[in-house]
Amino acid sequence: MNGFSSNTCYELVSEALEDIEALHEEFQGVEEDEHASHRVVDIARQLVAFKSITPDDVGCQLWLAQELRTLGFSIKHLPVRDVSNLIASIGNNSDARFAFLGHTDVVPAGSTQDWQFNPFKLTEHNGCLFARGIVDMKGAIAAFFCAIEALVTDFGIPEKELWLLLTSDEEGEAEHGTKRITQFLKQQRITFDFTLVGEPSSEAQVADTLKVGRRGALSFTINLHGKSGHVAYPQKATNAIHLAQNIMQALLSVDWPKHCDNFDSTTLQFTHVNSGDFVDNIIPSQCQLNFNIRYTPAYNEYELVQLVRETIEKHTLNYALTTNNSCKPYYCVNNDEIPSPSLAIVCDEINSQCHFTPKLSTAGGTSDGRFIAEISTSVLELGLVNKTIHQIDEHTTTSDLIQLQQLYYGIYKRLLYPTLHVHSTAQDELLQLR
Ligand SMILES: [Zn+2]
Repeated sequence: MNGFSSNTCYELVSEALEDIEALHEEFQGVEEDEHASHRVVDIARQLVAFKSITPDDVGCQLWLAQELRTLGFSIKHLPVRDVSNLIASIGNNSDARFAFLGHTDVVPAGSTQDWQFNPFKLTEHNGCLFARGIVDMKGAIAAFFCAIEALVTDFGIPEKELWLLLTSDEEGEAEHGTKRITQFLKQQRITFDFTLVGEPSSEAQVADTLKVGRRGALSFTINLHGKSGHVAYPQKATNAIHLAQNIMQALLSVDWPKHCDNFDSTTLQFTHVNSGDFVDNIIPSQCQLNFNIRYTPAYNEYELVQLVRETIEKHTLNYALTTNNSCKPYYCVNNDEIPSPSLAIVCDEINSQCHFTPKLSTAGGTSDGRFIAEISTSVLELGLVNKTIHQIDEHTTTSDLIQLQQLYYGIYKRLLYPTLHVHSTAQDELLQLR
């Protein structure tokens, strides 16, 4: 990647390592209970003790990198400006590559006196774990780490490649985080068969809902050119605001006939109208319109631009159009409505461990899955219950956290050790027969 010499990386890492201890919140006086010695709770406790408020990582990824190294992961730090990014990989059979995508940054805790407990010290209370970021998403990172640690202990180095991608810039601008990791991996010609994102996808209990796709987004700027004149002589002018009004009306009348199952329909929202400085007796000659289209995988960017152009050109040819903030949609289900093999594996694992079928959802705003979707055949989000994310007293149940670790263990066992997987339950046999 341009601008990242390995020396710079190394120096940054060495300097920061010395500071880890200083930055790490003391976590003494842990409350005793049945889960206090559970490995995933211990790792989560370590992670939340770093006050990694976006985008300042304060050594959280460096600490994790040390732990990953002992498991046999190769580590690359990819700092960009004030953002920390970590790329870790294990296994060396690149005929299949899988990834886990996450973020170590958290949103600010808000007024800490409103919290029941110190937000940067994991507190276990009535079967729940309280801390800023425990759900979004350090708990999922701890669950992933412990799942892989157990797999490596049980079965050795994975038969397939596994990559862990972490950024400290998900909750903020998201400019120098997963986007840059994706650019870097693209340059290295690294692609993934499947990426699991640890975002809190669940609604009432862990794994009840999977995020299997997101709508795409595209922003448009149109500059309309009219002809200025005196308001008393409109016949000698072309009012750019009137032109804009007609075009806005036409764009808002598009009914987006193409639909996609599991997705909210395609929508268009105007975000800004600007006709320049106001003068009471002048007909404006320019008007700029800004709008954003959220679209399902039934559309593509080229089609949207064509449709917008055709709509404008029914009213004027005197305009300029630009697009930006392009974000393609993604979906784990192919055009024939057949789920990707990885989605089938995840659903099957949830079925056999939890005895229910997860709801497949594409609702909500964007996540960093949108960036990695460019280099990953399928992308799916499975994490803790999102009820308290970004709130005072953010918490998960301890049992959900342990369940998430077990699910990650089962999913990555099937992906990374395919020769080991033996269908055992009746449910599995049924699936095989289909
Ligand atoms: Zn998150």
